[in-house]
Amino acid sequence: MTAAERPIFRKIALIGIGLIGGSIARVARRDHLVDEIAISARSQATLDRAEELQLGDSYWLDPADAVRDADCVILCAPVGASGAIAAAIAPALKSGAIVSDVGSVKGDVVRQMLPHIPAGVHFVPAHPVAGTEQSGPDSGFADLFKGRWCILTPPEGTDPAAVDALSAFWQACGSTIEVMTPDHHDMVLAITSHIPHLIAYNIVGTAAHLEEVTASEVIKFSAGGFRDFTRIAASDPTMWRDVFLHNREAVIEMLGRFIEDLFALQRSIRFGEGDDLFDLFTRTRAIRRSIIDVGQDTDAADFGRQKI
Ligand code: NAP
Repeated sequence: MTAAERPIFRKIALIGIGLIGGSIARVARRDHLVDEIAISARSQATLDRAEELQLGDSYWLDPADAVRDADCVILCAPVGASGAIAAAIAPALKSGAIVSDVGSVKGDVVRQMLPHIPAGVHFVPAHPVAGTEQSGPDSGFADLFKGRWCILTPPEGTDPAAVDALSAFWQACGSTIEVMTPDHHDMVLAITSHIPHLIAYNIVGTAAHLEEVTASEVIKFSAGGFRDFTRIAASDPTMWRDVFLHNREAVIEMLGRFIEDLFALQRSIRFGEGDDLFDLFTRTRAIRRSIIDVGQDTDAADFGRQKI
């Protein structure tokens, strides 16, 4: 992508302006990926804050007003709202527009949105695999997507030109593109993102109960591994409630495997099978090394600021 090819879209509309929408707005503005940014959010307070931060050119409570004349519309709201937003914007979409999203779940989002996409409008769902535990318009930053993956899950028969245009946009945001089916996406993300969040929510919840028994020692000695879980477990409750409700099948499938493996570990500990524990911990250390080698994290002691 050369600078001469910019702007990639004349006008984009961002429906939802939190961490992800706010980051898209910032990189699109900074790197002149678009001429015009229209923003919609659920509450006036969020819209006012986005305006104070000068994230866009126009601000609308009704998402249908934001998408008028937009070449590309990106839903950046919790996945449970996807169907209702798609229904609300459908009559206002211009012919030839690209409708996309950033949802952490793809199969269910496609099922919610596809019935509302008018003929002549291109639907290219997406998931930038980049984020932090922060939320809201203040939390976004222009480099969030740099060096990260963006997964596209276009339905069969989608116009390749629309997929190319959205790919060019995400590449200009700093991401590398991977195309896969929605179901495959949901299975992969269940194990790499959704189950780890569930484990973090669970362990912090268990510790919170124990806290009463241990008289504040859980917080005091949190550096012993617990602290890293608390960062993940601080993630947005609405977003993550929706992820689990809308990727139910893949999460339950992966959770089943996880529980089986956990029982095996319990057994190894009970029967003193140290070699089994050592072998597993050696393999997991190698996985950590390969994640660092491909640039998805650093081995700095307390990196942990970004998660995907
Ligand atoms: P966020 O910071 O909480 O922002 C959500 C935005 O959506 C807010 O502007 C909110 O407006 C708006 N919104 C909420 N409910 C809505 C509704 N019913 N209709 C219209 N707008 C609504 O969330 P986020 O972290 O940016 O996440 C947004 C999407 O990105 C989610 O689908 C999530 O799965 C996906 N994602 C998140 C991450 C991550 O790490 N956070 C990573 C990749 C993808 P109000 O403030 O007015 O309610």
